[in-house]
Amino acid sequence: MSKQCSKCKKNNAIYFRQYSGELLCNKCFIKSVEYKAKKTLSKFSMIKHGDRVAVAVSGGKDSLTLLNILKNILSDVNPELIAITVDEGIEGYRDESLHIVKNFCSNIGVESRVLSFRELFGLSMDKAMEVRPSDKISSCSICGTFRRRAIDLLAESCGANVIATGHNLDDYIQTFFINLFAGDVERIGWTYPEPVEYGSSGLKKIKPLMEIYEKELVLYAIHLNIPFQSEECPYKDESIRSAFRSHLNSLENIHPGIKYNAYNSILKIAKKVKSTPNAINQERKQCLVCNRDSSNNICSVCHTLSLFVKRN
Ligand code: SF4
Ligand code: ZN
Repeated sequence: MSKQCSKCKKNNAIYFRQYSGELLCNKCFIKSVEYKAKKTLSKFSMIKHGDRVAVAVSGGKDSLTLLNILKNILSDVNPELIAITVDEGIEGYRDESLHIVKNFCSNIGVESRVLSFRELFGLSMDKAMEVRPSDKISSCSICGTFRRRAIDLLAESCGANVIATGHNLDDYIQTFFINLFAGDVERIGWTYPEPVEYGSSGLKKIKPLMEIYEKELVLYAIHLNIPFQSEECPYKDESIRSAFRSHLNSLENIHPGIKYNAYNSILKIAKKVKSTPNAINQERKQCLVCNRDSSNNICSVCHTLSLFVKRN
């Protein structure tokens, strides 16, 4: 016999939230995920009145789910959402997601814009991989460096001052361990979720889904028929992130709720690191080549681009 939802006490439960012991029906589950995102937004003052939010949408489940959630929960206060997508120029992979994003945005009535690496840097990812100076520069580090810049420029060109990304709780914990094992303690402070303005246009980055388990976002997307890209990127690195991901999932299976405990501890550590001198408050400079905000004389984008120029 099917069990009853422990929230509404009416409908049949479709999901057992192991870490809280709740049984949830479809409607209560969807509502609870949206409520969690709403709570995260307010807890860390992620969006203020008058902010214009650009949602970085790749076509994957997290970013499309984020767009759907923000559209549902912000419609009264902040109706001016815009979806921004970067086309890295990866044949056979990016085309599918661009198509999904375009259709999804038009179905839910959100404006969408695309900017390509080729337009911006004169170099697609396919080309970059063909001419990359050394195998030691990983595909994802080239791509990530360029993508962050493209997203900033795209958001600025739309008049947005807030960039929302679809990082979830699992991503947040994995990032902590990556920084910890790399000995990069200062970076842990940068991950504290209260947004900090950067650059001359005062951009802020927010992660409204960072308190939601990845598996719940998959379930949300499936229950609401949100389409998402199935194809894997051909250049994906087998990074240390995947190893942490699988270890943390095994731990969670044996000890439900352990990811939440870890998340709460990491938050405290990040807050402490952020408030120590020399962490987040390190001197910011302007890149001598592109004039954008940078921690060194030459920013990481201009540095990466220079490696390709030297080679040609
Ligand atoms: Fe870029 Fe790596 Fe993502 Fe592929 S997997 S789109 S190379 S960051
Ligand atoms: Zn630069």
